[in-house]
Amino acid sequence: MNPIALPAFTDNYIWMLHDGTDAVVVDPGDAAPVLAALDERQLALAAILVTHHHGDHVGGVDALRPHLKGPVYGPKREDIPAPFVPLAGGDRIDVLGKHITVLDVPGHTAGHIAYFIENNDGDAPLLFCGDTLFSAGCGRLFEGTAEQMHASLERLAALPGNTRVCCAHEYTLANLKFARAVEPGNAALARYQAECEAARAAGRPTLPALLATERAVNPFLRCAEPEVIAAARTHGAAGTAGAEVFAALRRWKNEFR
Ligand code: ZN
Ligand code: FE
Repeated sequence: MNPIALPAFTDNYIWMLHDGTDAVVVDPGDAAPVLAALDERQLALAAILVTHHHGDHVGGVDALRPHLKGPVYGPKREDIPAPFVPLAGGDRIDVLGKHITVLDVPGHTAGHIAYFIENNDGDAPLLFCGDTLFSAGCGRLFEGTAEQMHASLERLAALPGNTRVCCAHEYTLANLKFARAVEPGNAALARYQAECEAARAAGRPTLPALLATERAVNPFLRCAEPEVIAAARTHGAAGTAGAEVFAALRRWKNEFR
């Protein structure tokens, strides 16, 4: 089953999976693109998955509810539009005949969760990670600590390399600019930047990203690499521990233009 990216607002993607009859959407910040996609493909809405409480991820939930024949799932520790089925790390749900595992990934928000489909009937595993992992970047720390976010990203980076990462924003080109500043000597990063620039120039999403590629290009997943550590040290990293390197990179990125 292959995910479809429905563009919303200026740079959000609402991810949709369907089996030809039923659909599930992830983080519907706006109902309109979801209703249009359901209508176009003559699909019923079987479930909504929510990763965290921000408005650009939950804003369409109430307007979709009259069209929804199944549950809204969301993070147990967050305030999202009720009623919803509360989930936390280790929980498993079945949607469209697929087993979905819930992962706790705090950092961007305190109760942020991600949804992982390992067994995708011969297709690559899928990860819906909201605003935790972006291609070549990661979410800002609004509620969590650098330690939490670093641990969350390590959890995601340990998933199978062929996992396709469905991030909630098209931030890839801006992230790559920063990544090149961190690791100017990373050849895989230069190649990936060229690919992503071509995709955007052709009007295509850069997502889903491949997890194996992220491990090779995303500085926030590379906090143990000597070149990344050295760059972080020149930008205020207190030490060489992963969380310290991560914290310095995240602060540096906040100010990077
Ligand atoms: Zn967010
Ligand atoms: Fe967001």
